Amino acid sequence: RRKKMVERVTELMDKPERIRNIGIVAHIDHGKTTLSDNLLAGAGMISEELAGKQLFMDSDEEEQARGITIDASNVSMVHTYAGQEYLINMIDTPGHVDFGGDVTRAMRAVDGAVVVVDAVEGTMPQTETVLRQALKEGVRPVLFINKVDRLVNELKVDQQEMQIRLGKVIDKVNKLIKGMNEKMYNDGWKLDAAKGTVAFGSALYNWAVSVPFMQKSGVSFKDVFEKCNSGDMKWLAKNSPLSEVLLDMVVKHLPNPTDAQKRRIPIIWHGDKETPEGLSMMNCDPNGPAALMVTDISFDPHAGEVATGRLFSGTLRRGTELYVMGTAKRANRLSQVGIFMGAERIEVEALPAGNIAAVTGLKDAIVGSTVSTMMDITPFEALKHYSEPVMTVAVEAKNMKDLPKLVEVLRQVGKEDPTVQVSINEETGEHLIAGMGELHLEIITGRIKRDKGVDIITSPPIVVYRETPTQKAGPVEGKSPNRHNRFYIELEPMDPAVVDLILKGEVSMNQQVIERRDILVTAGMDKDEAKNIKAIEGTNMFIDMTKGIQYLNETMELVLDGWREALRGGPLADEQVQNLKIRLLDVKLHEDAIHRGPAQVIPAVRSAVKAGILYAGDSLLEPVQKIQITVPTEQMGPATSQIQGRRGQVFDMQSEGDTMTVIGKAPVAELFGFAGDVRSATEGRAMWSTEFAGFEVVPGGIVDEVVKGIRKRKGLKEQIPRPEDYLA
Ligand code: GDP
Repeated sequence: RRKKMVERVTELMDKPERIRNIGIVAHIDHGKTTLSDNLLAGAGMISEELAGKQLFMDSDEEEQARGITIDASNVSMVHTYAGQEYLINMIDTPGHVDFGGDVTRAMRAVDGAVVVVDAVEGTMPQTETVLRQALKEGVRPVLFINKVDRLVNELKVDQQEMQIRLGKVIDKVNKLIKGMNEKMYNDGWKLDAAKGTVAFGSALYNWAVSVPFMQKSGVSFKDVFEKCNSGDMKWLAKNSPLSEVLLDMVVKHLPNPTDAQKRRIPIIWHGDKETPEGLSMMNCDPNGPAALMVTDISFDPHAGEVATGRLFSGTLRRGTELYVMGTAKRANRLSQVGIFMGAERIEVEALPAGNIAAVTGLKDAIVGSTVSTMMDITPFEALKHYSEPVMTVAVEAKNMKDLPKLVEVLRQVGKEDPTVQVSINEETGEHLIAGMGELHLEIITGRIKRDKGVDIITSPPIVVYRETPTQKAGPVEGKSPNRHNRFYIELEPMDPAVVDLILKGEVSMNQQVIERRDILVTAGMDKDEAKNIKAIEGTNMFIDMTKGIQYLNETMELVLDGWREALRGGPLADEQVQNLKIRLLDVKLHEDAIHRGPAQVIPAVRSAVKAGILYAGDSLLEPVQKIQITVPTEQMGPATSQIQGRRGQVFDMQSEGDTMTVIGKAPVAELFGFAGDVRSATEGRAMWSTEFAGFEVVPGGIVDEVVKGIRKRKGLKEQIPRPEDYLA
């Protein structure tokens, strides 16, 4: 039977019009895992008894223990629609905000998304986040309103009220889509139950309905209501099977790779569309040059490093030689080419464009890499994360002999999860892991211990701060240690509009100079500046305004290295610098290359930048989280004070029936222990969620103390440096 399934899958993967690449996205607990499992079971990929008992896609031990989905894993299913078979490649995505980066990656690989919303809770902050990520990647949504049984059995609504509530959820999601991208909304991405882009049902009890299905089958909302009410879920599952209704919707309304790529390639790839690779990607051509975007890397004890990604063009075979953009131009030879079925990878002879590929042998690739049979193609738009690391833990090996292993494991962790930043504190030799929250870090360190078998000691988590300039400064002169090289720079805070463009991925070093220049000029940047950008690092920019300086070209990489070093740790608290724009005005270089090497240029530039940041009014920023707490109305007081008592601010309250949702924000530094406190303050009756909401200035009243604390912890001198200290 398995053999037959493999045959069907491999037959379909050659027919792009019969392929759908989809993701399921949802707020945590809205039922994504249950839905994935039951879809697989319904499609005959796992036994029905197993689905539900064994969380199929949650293969990691701790995912099961915690009941949340962490890694995006891949499965393929075969579904028959209108007498024809279709291959549905499904990428699982995490529902917890701490893992937002994984959602972004998964969205790059798919063309359509099933957005799952709990009928009782309605849309939640992460529903919004994942929807925004989908639209940003040009991924088309359909909606599944889940847990309809709860409306009837727990909220005791009547049939009319049930339909009204379902309608409200659709309206809300449509409002979100319209607000995020009005053009897509008007171009037919508006969800419409009558057209069949919405389904309702219960993932747990294995049934769903859509308007087209009801018309075809005769099952009605009245049946749904009555069967829920009488608890006859079996009838619904039999007459309105979840997988049939859902997968019909997927096949009918979500695009195949050929159609999707025509629309998506211009959004995610900014190279010349008339080049061989451009044409081939636009047409999803299996005969063109290969273009693969790596969205996931995992380690398989047997096969080693497995890279998963979306193949947008060409065909991959064992032995195909590929190049990873942005690395040394050496061929990586594929040793295995496969696709996923469940957690299982099956090898195939040749994998054509339009599929999700799982390959081994891509030594140079990391998550986010663009890989091609051509040596030099424009890379895909960098994967954007809507969250940034806000917390760090220091780890050390319990046994010194494990240190080399720990270093290797940390390198792997950094490769597997691009939202994690791994670094070493030069002074203390500590290994630091920065992640998106307490839970995220707990899971990563847990995994290092359990899966990788390295016993480690972990420090309590520490908040990640940032530094940023508040005013213009310069020119500042940086001298090399031998005094023969000089660099003159000007600094200023980056225009917020430009920062926004960088964060949205609309401006990056992966685009052609002219395209970038035009976007920036439209946003108000000086034309001369806009065309002389040498590098963008985070939300910092380096602009070369010099003209015709001898040897500068060959020295520029070192200049940028010096600049990057300064960005890694600002003068105030040795925290990363953001939103800094630097103009290089003039340079004097020694004519003998020996006297303008790395040891001269890097410190000269680094010191000039650090001194410059101090002149530019360096200020400290802290990460802030948006918080949403839903409680019974009488618990509103305690919920509100949980935010306000943490240097927080409440800016909205919404009441619905007898519940109240309090929306606000608070600094991450004040959120330690939040989960437990909210629980006890509201007698366990609160539902809450948090979401990264950017960095904000640490208030004047406490900033000195915070800086002092950070400097002490890092073993820095208590005294904050003065500009002269760098320029001596
Ligand atoms: P995820 O976090 O989005 O993956 O959500 P899960 O699939 O783990 O589901 C969260 C909880 O909701 C679990 O306890 C499920 O059993 C439950 N659940 C999922 N779907 C339904 C449903 O249709 N009806 C009811 N009553 N519970 C459901």
